[in-house]
Amino acid sequence: DKKYIATPNRTKEILQTYQFTFKKSLGQNFLVDVNVLQNIINHAGIDKQSGTIEIGPGIGALTEQLAIHSSKVVAFEIDGRLLPILEETLHDYENVQIIHEDILKANVHEIIRENFSTDQTIHIVANLPYYITTPILMKLLRERLPVDSITVMIQKEVADRMAASPNTKSYGSLSIAVQYYTEAKVVMNVPKTVFMPQPNVDSSILRLVAREEPPVFVEDEDYFFTLVQACFAQRRKTLRNNLTSHFKGMFEKEKINAILDSIGIDGTRRGESLDMKEFSVLANAFYNQQN
Ligand code: SAM
Repeated sequence: DKKYIATPNRTKEILQTYQFTFKKSLGQNFLVDVNVLQNIINHAGIDKQSGTIEIGPGIGALTEQLAIHSSKVVAFEIDGRLLPILEETLHDYENVQIIHEDILKANVHEIIRENFSTDQTIHIVANLPYYITTPILMKLLRERLPVDSITVMIQKEVADRMAASPNTKSYGSLSIAVQYYTEAKVVMNVPKTVFMPQPNVDSSILRLVAREEPPVFVEDEDYFFTLVQACFAQRRKTLRNNLTSHFKGMFEKEKINAILDSIGIDGTRRGESLDMKEFSVLANAFYNQQN
C-alpha cells in the first residue's frame, strides 16, 4: 500500500529529513489525515478531466490527492524553502506544477489560460493559510476567474460568516460579499487533531459554487459593498442610525428617513435583518440620489 504524504509518520519523516521549521506567520498547519483530504476531494466535485488550482501546497499533502484525482494541479506556494521538498515528495506525479509566488500578487487569469483548456472545468481547492483567508477569497471572487467552484479549509468562524443567513449571529457584510458571487455552504467541521502543528482555532470546509450572474441587480458594486458595510458598522444600532453616521454631511436624518420610506424599509430594523435583495434596493436608492 502506498504511503501518502498526509500521514503523521510520513510528514514527520519529511520534516526531519529537510530540517523544516514551521513559520507561524505563513499559516503553516499541514494536514496529516487522508480521510479529511478524501472528504475535501469529494466535496470539491473534481473528476479526472478537471483542472485544479491549489493555494499553499506545503509539503504536498493535498497536492498529491489532487494529482491523483484530477487531470492537472497548479499550486501557488510563497515559501521558497518548500520548493525542493515538493520536488521530491511529488516526484512521481507528472501533472503537478508548482509556482513560487504570493497568491495575492499572482496573475491567476494568465496562469489559467496557460495551463488549462477553455472547455475544462476548473476547481480551486486549498487548506488556506488562516491569516489571509478573506483577502485570498475576495481576490479570487472579485477577479471573476473562470472557475466552477472553490473548496477550502478555513477557520470555522470565518466559514460560518461567509455562509451565514440573515438574522444569525454570523451574518454580516462578509456573508453578502461572498454570496453575491457564489452559493456558499459549510460542508464539514474538522477537528484540530488532523493538523501538524495543531492550530488554535477550529476549522471547517467551505464550498463556494460560482454563480452564473449576481443574484441581485446593483447599480454600482463598490457602492453596494461599502453601503452594506456601513449598515453593519455598529451591529446593535438601527439601520437609520448607521446610515446617518455613514452619510454625515451628505444626507440629513430626514432625507434618510424619506429614502427608506420610499423603498418600504423600516429604519428601526437592524442591518442583520436585511437580506441581499433588500440591501440591493437600499444601495440603489441611495446611489440614485447621488448620481
Ligand atoms: N496544503 C498544505 C496542507 O494541507 O498540508 C499546507 C497548508 S498550510 C495551512 C498553508 C500553506 O500556504 C503553507 O504552505 C504556506 O507556506 C502557504 N502560504 C502562506 N501564505 C501564502 C501566500 N500568500 N501565497 C501562497 N502560499 C501561501
